[in-house]
Amino acid sequence: MRLGAGRFVAGETLDDAARVLRKLNDDGLSANTTLLGEAVHDRDATAEIVRAYTAVIDRIADDGLRANVALKLTHLGLEIDEELAFDNVRALVEHARDRGQLLRIDMEQSSFVDATLRIYRRLREAGLDNVGTVLQAYLYRTPADLQTLLPLEPNLRLVKGAYLEAAGIAYPHKADVDAAYERLLDTMLAGGGYTAVATHDERLIERAIHLAEQHEVGRDRFELQMLYGVRGQLQLDLARRGFKVLVATPYGPEWYPYLMRRLGERPANLLFFLKNAIRG
Ligand SMILES: Cc1cc2nc3c(=O)[nH]c(=O)nc-3n(C[C@H](O)[C@H](O)[C@H](O)COP(=O)(O)OP(=O)(O)OC[C@H]3O[C@@H](n4cnc5c(N)ncnc54)[C@H](O)[C@@H]3O)c2cc1C
Repeated sequence: MRLGAGRFVAGETLDDAARVLRKLNDDGLSANTTLLGEAVHDRDATAEIVRAYTAVIDRIADDGLRANVALKLTHLGLEIDEELAFDNVRALVEHARDRGQLLRIDMEQSSFVDATLRIYRRLREAGLDNVGTVLQAYLYRTPADLQTLLPLEPNLRLVKGAYLEAAGIAYPHKADVDAAYERLLDTMLAGGGYTAVATHDERLIERAIHLAEQHEVGRDRFELQMLYGVRGQLQLDLARRGFKVLVATPYGPEWYPYLMRRLGERPANLLFFLKNAIRG
């Protein structure tokens, strides 16, 4: 944390995270939180993670925080067994429902998209409506995935996509990803579900606001999402304009891979990190 990870991560413990979530709420922002970690390969370890997330959900409810959980299915055992991941996430979605919260399933590498969407669909078929997932604009398959999900009136977060994918399955050029994002936004906002517009790209944020107006999507049916530590002033400005802004605020001792992804997105962050590392 001393090295500068604290800019992007809300600390190592649930107490640390609860303090940061409270501060975000006080500033007029909503939040989600994630216990950092991915790719667990041991069944017993996944049970431990379910217990930890149960405690997070309870803490959010007990402290009256405007927050929810977002998690990765590989953290709940998707690489061991899809049924195990399903059982684990189902238990957490049910617990979140009982405590009045949404739970969102993040999207990971392209090899997990089919299983993630299958699990999302099974949860909805089981009558659980307090669950959302994520679509990635860089994947060629995403417009088709969106069409198959729309009849469910899904709660979807739209992102550009964070993983290194082959050109055979994902747009390699940023301009094409941005154009795809815009087209998907249009379909999603017109589609009748709930849309979480997750980007720091101001042009796309304004485009989303415009499209929401055009499709008469009320402010209770879409929100803007950004990462903790990125474009903080923009987050506050949008909240002051009356939009729901949710800040994705992860915590936990396993913060290193997350930090590396954030640094990779923007070389200027690397400079920030190195300056802190030298000072520390
Ligand atoms: C709330 C949230 C949830 C996400 N969930 C997922 C997920 O489930 N699956 C997934 O694959 N990806 C996820 N992502 C990551 C996403 O796919 C992108 O990698 C990330 O958001 C960067 O793209 P961008 O949309 O901000 O646009 P970019 O075009 O990359 O950036 C637009 C502008 O934002 C600023 N910016 C962007 N990133 C940073 C940064 N790290 N530090 C400082 N400034 C920055 C820059 O000034 C840049 O010019 C999520 C992103 C957010 C905000």
